[in-house]
Amino acid sequence: MATATRRRTKIVATIGPASSNGDVLRRLVEAGVDAVRLNFSHGTHDDHAATTRAVREVQDELGKPLTVIADLQGPKLRVGDLAAPRVLLKGEEILVVGEQVAVDGELPVAPAVIGEVLRPGHDVLIDDGLVRLTVQEVDQGRARCRVVVGGEVKSHKGVNLPGVPIPIPSLTKKDLDDLSFALSLGADFVALSFVRAAADVRDLQAIIRQHGSPARVIAKIEKSEAVESLDEILLETDAVMVARGDLGVEIGAATVPLLQKRIILRCLEAGKPVITATQMLESMIEHAEPTRAEASDVANAVLDGTSAIMLSAETATGNYPVESVRTMDSIARAVEPSMGYRHQMPEPGEKTTVGRAMSNAACDLAETLGASAILVPTFTGRTASAVARLRPRRPVLALSHHQTSVQQMALEWGVIPLLIAQTENVEDLWSRSLEAAVKSGLVETGDRVVTTAGTAVNLPGSTNVIKVDIA
Ligand code: PEP
Repeated sequence: MATATRRRTKIVATIGPASSNGDVLRRLVEAGVDAVRLNFSHGTHDDHAATTRAVREVQDELGKPLTVIADLQGPKLRVGDLAAPRVLLKGEEILVVGEQVAVDGELPVAPAVIGEVLRPGHDVLIDDGLVRLTVQEVDQGRARCRVVVGGEVKSHKGVNLPGVPIPIPSLTKKDLDDLSFALSLGADFVALSFVRAAADVRDLQAIIRQHGSPARVIAKIEKSEAVESLDEILLETDAVMVARGDLGVEIGAATVPLLQKRIILRCLEAGKPVITATQMLESMIEHAEPTRAEASDVANAVLDGTSAIMLSAETATGNYPVESVRTMDSIARAVEPSMGYRHQMPEPGEKTTVGRAMSNAACDLAETLGASAILVPTFTGRTASAVARLRPRRPVLALSHHQTSVQQMALEWGVIPLLIAQTENVEDLWSRSLEAAVKSGLVETGDRVVTTAGTAVNLPGSTNVIKVDIA
């Protein structure tokens, strides 16, 4: 069995000027990238189209399915256009004003709603909290603020108002334009920034369906409202991102580590992929080696059970994009052998589903028999996620005739996706799956495998069979 040393935790790389070139992209994938993130807060549509084309070329060239994630900016407040960067000094006072009405000397913030929501005592955090203001008084939409922590403020830097509800839609006009463009590129997932409630996820899913796209939604958890509504959001969303950058600004850096563990655990229980993101190897933007603290952070996210770990500026704009991926890969490989299989029987009275019970049983069987692999023929990939949530020690080979499902499953922990030809006949589906597993070299003839699937072929959610076969 050729999969024993495969890394199970997936790696997401944000693509930007340092990595959009086809050659660098290929080297990133060879170094271990499973998914790419297009950050629509930066770059043009032409940039993202060129990156997507290059990603699909690398996918075909290397025969490795890759997930494309389109990350929408969402309702983020930003500093408006400044003629030049402005240095704010501690103790100084400044007027913070909606972009359209700001005059010289005032700090413009878009969208203009800022003037309506600020109240004395509110904090205004600029550039991930590097510059901090406190509102003294508000008069006709102009907030007089005192600078608590000074620093340089540049155009378009992010602005956070922790705990202040912002009455703007979860999808801005820019997001809607970016969304239809990303769907036209064939994005596999759309990540929604600043999710506040489950309805934000439902609204996005409805628009994606209107476009006739099979793309799935990643809810970025980065606001306290999202943390409070996590259970409801988890019922709706297809996947989650622990977006530690904005989350740290909104709720304080000290609260992030425990929250990361809580969010990952809830995702494991729900069987939904979860990405841990931001500043994982931050110093590698400039240096070829990570700090020991960064190595520990990556290792701990893996031990927490995250499905994927993400690189941001390290691969988008950093000097060592390929080294950053190699570093993540080696840390994950060093830690994973110490991870336990998560099989748990339901608590008395806990509701379960046939699908969950089947995935439990399939993993137990594979473990008991020392099977070479768990084969999961799946239409949507959801059965593969149900199996992956138990973090089995046996490789999970997920087989689908649906190209998008194959690409989406590349993000899921421990899942090796394989494309198979479509069939309506269940016996055919099982034999094709076994053949594909052997053909891929991941299973050898004579190996024992456990298959879990549905007898109703191509019907999502119909998993009702477990089989033991010799390949
Ligand atoms: C984050 O805030 O951690 C994050 C991933 O979002 P973005 O990079 O879009 O700010």
